Amino acid sequence: MIDVLDVHTHTIASGHAYNTMNEMIAAAKAKNLRLYGIADHAPAMPGACHNFHFMNLKAVRRDAYGIELVLGVELNILDYNGSTDLPGHILETLDFAVASLHTPCLKPGTLEQNTAAIIGAIKNPNVIIIGHPDNPVYPVDFDRVAQAAADCNVLLEINNHSYESVGVRAGSREKAKLMLAACKKYRTHVIMGSDAHVDTDVGNHQSSIAVLEENDFPEELVVNADPQRFRAHLRRR
Ligand SMILES: [Zn+2]
Ligand SMILES: [Zn+2]
Repeated sequence: MIDVLDVHTHTIASGHAYNTMNEMIAAAKAKNLRLYGIADHAPAMPGACHNFHFMNLKAVRRDAYGIELVLGVELNILDYNGSTDLPGHILETLDFAVASLHTPCLKPGTLEQNTAAIIGAIKNPNVIIIGHPDNPVYPVDFDRVAQAAADCNVLLEINNHSYESVGVRAGSREKAKLMLAACKKYRTHVIMGSDAHVDTDVGNHQSSIAVLEENDFPEELVVNADPQRFRAHLRRR
């Protein structure tokens, strides 16, 4: 599987990750990625930065590092309507946004509530990726999620971290089976993300690739093969 990009990674700005932006970019270059992104945790995550961190990302020159760089955020979904924790006027200045359900920010609801939360986030025009939507702690209706994502040109993530044996989101592999079946049905595009919290993990999609292969997932629906496929989702606004 061709795999040249990773945009779901974290720096020390997230509060529970361990490398600087420069160190993470150096790791991405060492792995020969063609496009690299940082999506630090948004303010509602304990230990994350203030809004100002995200407002000022415009100060970072995207063309100064010898690799195509995109800077965004991993938003926390805060309620069952899919509200998130950065206002639109800040999101509009970022290159992209991931939106995810995290237990410190929203307690798991019913299948109906969790599904509504994710679909609400999908409808936010600034969100282009739903992070780890197959987390079994938040059961959802994958048919409705995959259909909404396809309609809004939003990517569902195949999160490497979720499928590791030390996994923080145990049981995700089984849920991924259901999610990928729904994605095939609705032709929903997916993106592999390392969710690296340390530089040695940048670009690590080993378990994500295994999950896609186990499920015979069509390569043409995976955006990691070509930066242009990813960029097409940046322009959905
Ligand atoms: Zn996350
Ligand atoms: Zn993350």
